[in-house]
Amino acid sequence: MHYAYRYRLHPTEAQRETLNFHRDTCRQLYNHALTEFEQIPQSAGTLTQRVRQVRDQLPDLKDWWDDLTELYSTVAQAAVMRIEDAIEALSELKTKGYDVGSLNWKSPREYRSFTYVQKGFEFDKKNGQTVLSLKTLADIPLSYHREIPDDLTVKEVSIKQERTGEWDASFAVDDKEEPAKPENPARCVGIDVGILKYAHDTDGCAVGSLDLQHEQERLKREQRSLSRKQHGSNNWEKQRLKVAKRHQKVRRKRHDFLHKLSNYYATEYDMVAVEDLDVKPMLESTGNSQNTASAAWDTFTTLLEYKCKREGTHFVEVDPAGTTKQCASCGVGSDKPLWVREHSCPACGFEMDRDANAAINILFRGFEKLGLGQSEETTPVETALPLFTSSDGADVVDGKRVVETGSPTLKEAATAAE
Ligand SMILES: [Zn+2]
Repeated sequence: MHYAYRYRLHPTEAQRETLNFHRDTCRQLYNHALTEFEQIPQSAGTLTQRVRQVRDQLPDLKDWWDDLTELYSTVAQAAVMRIEDAIEALSELKTKGYDVGSLNWKSPREYRSFTYVQKGFEFDKKNGQTVLSLKTLADIPLSYHREIPDDLTVKEVSIKQERTGEWDASFAVDDKEEPAKPENPARCVGIDVGILKYAHDTDGCAVGSLDLQHEQERLKREQRSLSRKQHGSNNWEKQRLKVAKRHQKVRRKRHDFLHKLSNYYATEYDMVAVEDLDVKPMLESTGNSQNTASAAWDTFTTLLEYKCKREGTHFVEVDPAGTTKQCASCGVGSDKPLWVREHSCPACGFEMDRDANAAINILFRGFEKLGLGQSEETTPVETALPLFTSSDGADVVDGKRVVETGSPTLKEAATAAE
């Protein structure tokens, strides 16, 4: 498993120019290398061998191409080797049946990043400010909002200009060994991911959906304004930037929310059970809301799974069939349409919030799947019951608060409900 740490760069005006110069020199080098590459017959070797053949011409190129001497060695090499990735991506499309031509020269708009491989970069402090020190380029201030753990090795750093004009640095790291999962998980939770509420768990914590309506309306307004401008004009370009920034805001807010929520569960528990959404029929909603909801569920469980791996937490996906219908107390199934928010068992009389009941069923199925007997302490029906007696929704956490404060709010809410 490998993943990336990303940071926002805050280059000065002069540094922006240098960044752009490096990026565009890489682009020209890429285009030149592509032409050279196409001269080499396929019989000359494997794809990697042929691209390397072009890469090995770099020292000679520098004799007449002055700008190249400004680039750090691995940056120039990576720009040439990018041809390999591009061709692999192209042939993958071909095998999928797409009608693709050959590789084209890249325009400035299409070539947005360059990469330092293994060396040439380090974090440093300048006047109390953390900077990313890039060889032959500059010391660029950045928001160092989370530390890269010492035991991780940074393989490469990609410097990229977003479509909003901002610059990011993305550190690809090799993951440490995955920690072992506890044999007898003590803190276990079942989570029901829903439509009306975002998630409901067996510890009495319900998280409201993230309200993005305001952001989405503003995005639509800017998009309408863009459609009225003459394509390619100065005003159009200005407006395009505004739209890109709005898009980014919505994306960031949603991502931040899902990151914090999944992080909370992965770090607070030894075992997390959710429904296997690949096989869950999405009958409970229609149209667009269905797509949005299922996309968000998917992102949430994907993040959750990967964070659980990192934390050594059991991640269990269970059969979703009938989790809402089944009674968590006696196991008897009873039909209930979506608008019935309370579970009330006709067989045993057990009453509970619909999603809380589902969450308990999910946890039980998780225990079964892990082959764990249900011990006395982990009888969720007993522990969870008092938590749901209030029907005024006092123990529901607003999705917005998760974004603003992160997991502590969730913790407080969970303890406050006890
Ligand atoms: Zn029952």
